[in-house]
Amino acid sequence: MSHPDADVVTPAAGQPLVLRGGTVLTMDDAHTVLPRADVLVVDGRIAAIGPQLEVPEGTAEIDASGGIVMPGMIDTHRHMWQTAMRGYGADWTLTQYFVWYYLEHGRAFRPEDVHAGNLLSAWDALEAGVTTTVDWSHGLQSVDHAEAAADALIAVPGRFVLAYGNIQAGPWEWTADPAVQSFLRRRQDEGRLGVQLAFDVTGDPAFPEKAAFEVARELGLPVTTHAGVWGATNDEGIRLMHEHGFMAPETVYVHAATLSTDSYHRIAATGGSISVSTESEQSAGQGYPPTWQVRRHGIPVSLSMDTSVWWSSDLFSAMRATLGADRSREHLEAHAEGSTVTQVHLRAEQVVDWATGGGARALGRDDIGSLEPGKRADVVLVKNDHSPVSFPLLNPYGHVAFQAGRGDVHTVLVDGRVVKSAHRLVGADLAAVRRTVDATVEHLRSTMGEETWAQGMNPELPGQDVLDNPYTYTEYKSATTHGARGSVFDTEDVAG
Ligand SMILES: [Zn+2]
Repeated sequence: MSHPDADVVTPAAGQPLVLRGGTVLTMDDAHTVLPRADVLVVDGRIAAIGPQLEVPEGTAEIDASGGIVMPGMIDTHRHMWQTAMRGYGADWTLTQYFVWYYLEHGRAFRPEDVHAGNLLSAWDALEAGVTTTVDWSHGLQSVDHAEAAADALIAVPGRFVLAYGNIQAGPWEWTADPAVQSFLRRRQDEGRLGVQLAFDVTGDPAFPEKAAFEVARELGLPVTTHAGVWGATNDEGIRLMHEHGFMAPETVYVHAATLSTDSYHRIAATGGSISVSTESEQSAGQGYPPTWQVRRHGIPVSLSMDTSVWWSSDLFSAMRATLGADRSREHLEAHAEGSTVTQVHLRAEQVVDWATGGGARALGRDDIGSLEPGKRADVVLVKNDHSPVSFPLLNPYGHVAFQAGRGDVHTVLVDGRVVKSAHRLVGADLAAVRRTVDATVEHLRSTMGEETWAQGMNPELPGQDVLDNPYTYTEYKSATTHGARGSVFDTEDVAG
């Protein structure tokens, strides 16, 4: 049925839907682009793609003419619980983030606060055309927190992967908890919700994280890990994972910025992928966004936004930032040698692939990430007839990567269901979400006190220790977290 608001289309359950006449970026293996094509969705799947499709009687129609139809975007690393602190840490460094969340205030988050952040972040993602998000949920101090995180994700009609983590305890501790294991088994295959384990490997030669990897293996859960983060994780962590046989094709290495060539070889050889959070790496300091060097090793890439405590949460920004960082580096290296880059390596088409198919491949999902008959219908229509930026539409990949923004996301489908139509979320009670987020902000603010709250936006450091080890659950620290300079500065690898 059609909605009373003009242009809003919300088909009834079971009613087919067709997007008519858009420029379709299929993101199939050949990256086929179809000008003025239709996309027919039946029973949650893509039924057909082509010009002037014959459709079943009673099919709902969306006019996609002048717009771009593309697969739903996939974010492989977002700390959704932190969205309740949106923008608070805009001027932080990574060290200040560690101090605030890991050392001082992360423990103040109650289950309802994790729920509030997740709820806000989940709608935020859908609004921006991000149909699948990995919730890198490392604030799960108790199973109650985990239940709250999962409940929020299930309440929103997107696809989510709950990557279970807990920065307040060692991964070998919380993964051993029978209540945590029972939660993970129970929530593993719950419709649109997937489950992973999320923890970091510090490089401690005793490799205490081994027990957590064994739990992941026993439960059949992929592991996602912050790797190659200046001052936190390094080559030693990668080496230990590799030597113990825990680097797998489903392993996702987040950032992977401060690593030596040896670590990239180990990632490439074991088939894992890298989740690049360019806005994050550029301003927090994990290392230079690594796309310019990982391509030498053929490592698959997906994109992510990390946390809205600092940054935006749409993958248009991620695509744009990643193109900028990669090209900046390429020009800089050439200029240092007195030469000129005449053709850039990284193309707009590639970042659109990373924002869609790249995420699907990282998650081992061959049923999403492209628009092809038979695939799940996670679809985004980029179209804004009220915007002068919407035309002329000459280079569709360039248009998505450099011209479009979240305000241009007209329609979003998840599993064939319309979750955004005519630029408005469907079924989102944002007033209720706002009330729950306000309650969380009020709780944190009153717990911290006004002075600490204000200082938190530009926190003082408690000492130098955090520079070598932000993890409160271990004494291990190593100067090698600052050592992998070789691939960063094109000098010999420096150890120690
Ligand atoms: Zn992160």
